[in-house]
Order: sequence, then structure tokens, then C-alpha cells
Amino acid sequence: MEIKEILEQLAPWRDAQKRLAWKPIVEEGDRGITASKFSGVPWLAENESYPRCGDCQALMPLFLQLDLSKIPAELVGRFGNGLLQMFYCTDCGSYMPLENNKLVRIVQPSGNAQSLQPDAHPSFPAKTIVGWTQLDDYPNSQEYEELGLIFDYDFSANTIHIECPSVGLVIENLSMDDALEAEEVYTVPGDKLAGYPYWIQGIEYPYCPECNRRMEVVFQIDSEDNLPYMFGDVGCGHITQCPQHKEILTFGWACS
Ligand SMILES: [Zn+2]
Ligand SMILES: [Zn+2]
Repeated sequence: MEIKEILEQLAPWRDAQKRLAWKPIVEEGDRGITASKFSGVPWLAENESYPRCGDCQALMPLFLQLDLSKIPAELVGRFGNGLLQMFYCTDCGSYMPLENNKLVRIVQPSGNAQSLQPDAHPSFPAKTIVGWTQLDDYPNSQEYEELGLIFDYDFSANTIHIECPSVGLVIENLSMDDALEAEEVYTVPGDKLAGYPYWIQGIEYPYCPECNRRMEVVFQIDSEDNLPYMFGDVGCGHITQCPQHKEILTFGWACS
């Protein structure tokens, strides 16, 4: 079977996995304390102290603040309500999710806000999110197997066995070079809301420390997209959330 035919046969499977993702449309500058934005001045309650790293005590810059009432209508309510904030220690921040050198939380900006001077804490040049561009997103090839598309490699014979029961596809002994085309990744890179994670090293969804459910991606923060920051060697990071406990959020990243 030609690779083109295989891809055609797999199209219904791929369509079934499709998710929507949204890329932020940004403008330079910080448009207010409760705005959705990359970096800048976070909303903080009047009496709270500025977030510090739980490991090295450094002040952590705001990476992202999202007003969950102003995300695309399809998503409103999915991640909870309020302002989602992510702070990350640029001194000792590690790739591991669920560690102390980051703070990812949802706050209710109902009381008085603290008036912070922009230079009173570390920050990148702020970019305000003023809109969203909707895109189709597809899983990373690392997730194919659990979604019902199996690539079984025989490295000694340089061949591959492909199986996708939902579309009745079984291919034996395809050459590995052809298979690479079938396994091409259609996951949207860069910063984005929802969709599928662009995994670099393999599936790395964390598990909720409360209920052990697999946490789901809220937002992907890629190296040097909207923030002038690189995670390791061009790593890609993900804010994830427990689907059951909306208050349990974290951030992790991987690089190649
Ligand atoms: Zn630190
Ligand atoms: Zn949970």
C-alpha cells in the first residue's frame, strides 16, 4: 500500500482526535492588573506578599495571567473561574512539575488589589492578550498508541507494523522511511491555549497528588515565543490542571 493511501485511510482516525487550540493575539504593554497577559504586573491581594520561589526564595516573575472569563466561549468554565496565574523561578526553576520553584494558581480578584510598581519585581516586557486565533490541533505521535494507532517498529528489519482498529487498518512490513511520513506530527507548536501538548521527550502528563487523575493541559508556553525565555535547550512547557480539582495546577517542561 502506498503511503498516500495509508494516510487517507487514517484520516477518519485523525479527524476523530482533532481538538481546538487557540493562539493568543498580543499587543505590547501591560493593559491592567486583571488583564490576560504574558508577564507584567500580576493581580495580588492587598495583603499578600509577592510570590517567592519555595526553594531559593527569589522573587518569581509572572509568566502568564489568564482571565478565565475572557477565554474563547467554548472553554469558559472548563478550567474554573478567576485569574489563572503562573509564576516561575528563573533562578532555579526545574522542568519537573509539582515542585516548589513555581506557583500556578487561580485567584479571585474580588478584593482590593495591591498596587505594585512594575520595577518592584522581576518581569519580562509585558504583552497583553487581546484576542485568540482558533486552530485545529492533533495529538503528538507519542500519544498515538493510547488513542488507538499503533506503530510497532522492527529495527533489525527496518520495517514497521501499523495497526489502527477503528478504521480497520493493518499494515505489515512497511519500510521505516515511509512510516516516518505516516507518523508526522501535526501538533501546533508555540504558545497556545488548550489543544494537545507538543511533547518533546514523551508523554509527561503529571498526576494529581490528591486523586491521582491524569492532569490535563491548559496552556502551552514554548521557548521564546511570547516570552523572551528559553526552557533548557529550546524546551516546551505546559500548564496542567487536575480535571477534578481545578485548584491543583502545575507547570513542567521538557527539551530534547
Ligand atoms: Zn528558585
Ligand atoms: Zn485531583
